[in-house]
Amino acid sequence: MATERTLAILKPDCVRKELVGEVLRRIQDAGFQVRAMKMLTMSKTEAEGFYAVHEDKPFFDDLTDFMSSGPCVPVVLEKENAIDDFRSLIGATDPDEAADGTIRSDFADSIEQNIVHGSDSPENGRQEASYFFPEHEIVANT
Ligand code: GDP
Repeated sequence: MATERTLAILKPDCVRKELVGEVLRRIQDAGFQVRAMKMLTMSKTEAEGFYAVHEDKPFFDDLTDFMSSGPCVPVVLEKENAIDDFRSLIGATDPDEAADGTIRSDFADSIEQNIVHGSDSPENGRQEASYFFPEHEIVANT
């Protein structure tokens, strides 16, 4: 299986609930390597840019308000089969539908405030990583 990159974002609800350490522990225990990480607060415009694919959705304004409401922690992760494995680890978008033991099932309050983002394809993983990190801020194998 190929080594892939995914961009995770520990969302503002994750930071507010002081779950950053716990969620990162689960991610590392599942075998993901952290290649880059920072904490920042997105502007509304930055959140709109990141979620541009959803701009026609009815929840776009709420989602981008939420994502710009406080600090978040983007993290570049690497692992074989990272895209699918990360989405299995976090569970379905709606925490009510997420499998037991997944991060969203255990910690998320709603379909919008669902603790963590994960890329949905290897191409988007690379493109989303570059939204937050220039290539020189992404470390090689440690
Ligand atoms: P993901 O790949 O599982 O994060 O889900 P999507 O790409 O479909 O949606 C992006 C983000 O938009 C989700 O993680 C949620 O934060 C939010 N979202 C998705 N669907 C809904 C919805 O029906 N209502 C609201 N309020 N937010 C949503």
